[in-house]
Amino acid sequence: MRNKKCKGKKVPFPYIEIVNNDRGGVTPSNLYIVVNYNDYGKIRQEIVGVDCGLPQGRDAEKPGLGNRAEMLKENCYVLLTSHGHVDHTGGFVDLCEYRRKKGIDEDIKVYMTHGTMHYMPAIQNDNLKVRTTENSGKPPYSEGAVRRFLNCCIPLGYDEPVNVNDYIRFRFIENCHTMDSAMSFIEVMDNNDNPLINVLVTGDYKKENNLTKDAYFPDWIRHKPLYLVIESTYASESKASEVKKFRKDIVSFINKNKGNKYFNILIPAFSMETTEHILYELASMQAEGLIPTGVSIKLDGQLSESHLKKVLGNPKDFRLKDGIKILPDNLQLVSGIDRKLIINNRSEKQIVVASGGMMQGASQNYLVPWLKNKNTLIYAIGYKPEGTAGYRVANAKPGDLISLGDTNVLVQAQIEWTREFSRHSKQEELIEFILSFDDIRGLFIVHGEEESRNQFVKLVKNDPRFTNVKFVKNLNYKQRVIASKFKVEDIKENE
Ligand SMILES: [Zn+2]
Repeated sequence: MRNKKCKGKKVPFPYIEIVNNDRGGVTPSNLYIVVNYNDYGKIRQEIVGVDCGLPQGRDAEKPGLGNRAEMLKENCYVLLTSHGHVDHTGGFVDLCEYRRKKGIDEDIKVYMTHGTMHYMPAIQNDNLKVRTTENSGKPPYSEGAVRRFLNCCIPLGYDEPVNVNDYIRFRFIENCHTMDSAMSFIEVMDNNDNPLINVLVTGDYKKENNLTKDAYFPDWIRHKPLYLVIESTYASESKASEVKKFRKDIVSFINKNKGNKYFNILIPAFSMETTEHILYELASMQAEGLIPTGVSIKLDGQLSESHLKKVLGNPKDFRLKDGIKILPDNLQLVSGIDRKLIINNRSEKQIVVASGGMMQGASQNYLVPWLKNKNTLIYAIGYKPEGTAGYRVANAKPGDLISLGDTNVLVQAQIEWTREFSRHSKQEELIEFILSFDDIRGLFIVHGEEESRNQFVKLVKNDPRFTNVKFVKNLNYKQRVIASKFKVEDIKENE
């Protein structure tokens, strides 16, 4: 049955419930907006989901929503995608298969931007491969399940409204976390098409992106009364932490090894977009003479390679700046070379950008031999959840003994770590964004460590600048919030 009757509530119709099926951590992203409305006397419910990711690292051991999540999965027919990262999309196929096994015959519609659509098949096929390996060769679902899911995907442009039914409309808004990412703006309307409740879900949020044109944000949304669901990954970090550490470290390593016959720099990078940012940075450093022409630059990883080709082949869908030069000179693709020759290199100065930001995937091949090599710099990029190999490597220093799979490795290489490529908003940027709205009826903080969420709630509550925010809450999986046209009505424990 498509529209379930819901029990009588004192809250005036229409009202929404916001349910955040995260684990009280950074991953996964999985939000549901449950819309309850009065359709000429009939009380109906429609569920709009935003993202359905996979928990990463220790987050996977934390409990989710249990029974309530199952109800939401069964009754959700519209799913919006913020961007392709696995903590936002890694659970899509599971969700579709769950519904199929329950005998739900109406397909879910999964909307995403044209950019995200370009690489969704690659993401899901890679996700299946990685999870199968992690699960001792047993796949979580079949390749057919991935194909069935891909048939449910619908590409959509920015700022193109879609009516879910007569009462619910949504559109994607440009966001620069990735070249293809989108915020979701959802409107709940009355019988006369007047929007009564407005919800904006940022997903991972960043105002600018080195590679893309400036994002367009429709100004009229800023003047609407609004519920805002915002990420807080780096809510406790200041923008001042964004020094050009990567540049400095690479240059100083190159200078230190000037007299050597060879060196290796390994940069394990997330294949979807971080790789392009690293390549762009290396290309800029070459252009400025900071990387000598004798240093070769290589790219390893099927997913990185295919994503890069999609981006370069579809500059409009990825909103690329006109004339931007992403590729370093003489970039070599490892797919065309023998990887062993590169790993055992003793005659060349080389930088290898390899896929697997968490240090799985292609980068794994280099880790053990190169960690033991003192002519090597291993450069960790971005967030590493505790308990992962990436976290252990990123925190290691020469002389440490660390475990990787079944091997213990005595570290000799230099190791550096930066978050400067991660494209989440720092505290000042989140504040600026929140302050740009006239009337926030409810501000819900999601997608960040519990501590940083709570700190951010405190900050908004105590800072006198936030006269535009009527209510603020760390919205984790334990609670759901009920909100009407006017205000947050109720907060309930999830059963
Ligand atoms: Zn992301």
